[in-house]
Amino acid sequence: MSKGKKTTIIKTLKINVDKCNGCRACEVICSSFHAMPKYSSNNPSRSRIRVNRDPLRDVYVPVYAGEYTMSECSGRHQYTIDGKEYDECSFCRASCPSRDEFREPDSGLPLRCDMCEGEDEPLCVKWCLADALSYEEREVEVEEEEGAPEVVEMGLEALVDRHGIEKVAEIVAQISKNLKR
Ligand code: SF4
Ligand code: SF4
Repeated sequence: MSKGKKTTIIKTLKINVDKCNGCRACEVICSSFHAMPKYSSNNPSRSRIRVNRDPLRDVYVPVYAGEYTMSECSGRHQYTIDGKEYDECSFCRASCPSRDEFREPDSGLPLRCDMCEGEDEPLCVKWCLADALSYEEREVEVEEEEGAPEVVEMGLEALVDRHGIEKVAEIVAQISKNLKR
């Protein structure tokens, strides 16, 4: 439901694929920052930034996680840029049902970049010694929205996708029962 306008800061990571050397330091620090407890482990499959690597073709494409999507897209293409071929999905930021990228490996929940909430600067930017990543902020005017937190809806949809509605409903009922005790 619309309530009017407000200004908000849009935070983005700018990626220069020509500078990336595929070292994967960004994946290491991202997964470590988001480990529980913080910095207790690192596992690149839990990272919110992934480097699509193909050293034989000198292709390195860092991509940071964006929105979860319920269904696969139909617009997959291979790209040739400056003589280099990039696979379909190489540049896609979505957590998508057709692939494992940007999904928490144990729960299947979608992973999304949070710009290292609480830090002065995204840690992947700090750790990228090749300067392939930079951080940008810009102020924009947006509609003020009311309603259920999008992130909760997104998480529930992903769980239903992976485990089925009955299992998820059963677990929610159990949690609710425990809370009432
Ligand atoms: S840390 Fe920088 S150079 Fe290394 S893989 Fe990530 S983006 Fe590429
Ligand atoms: S900004 Fe932080 S959360 Fe986002 S990809 Fe980089 S390290 Fe991960």
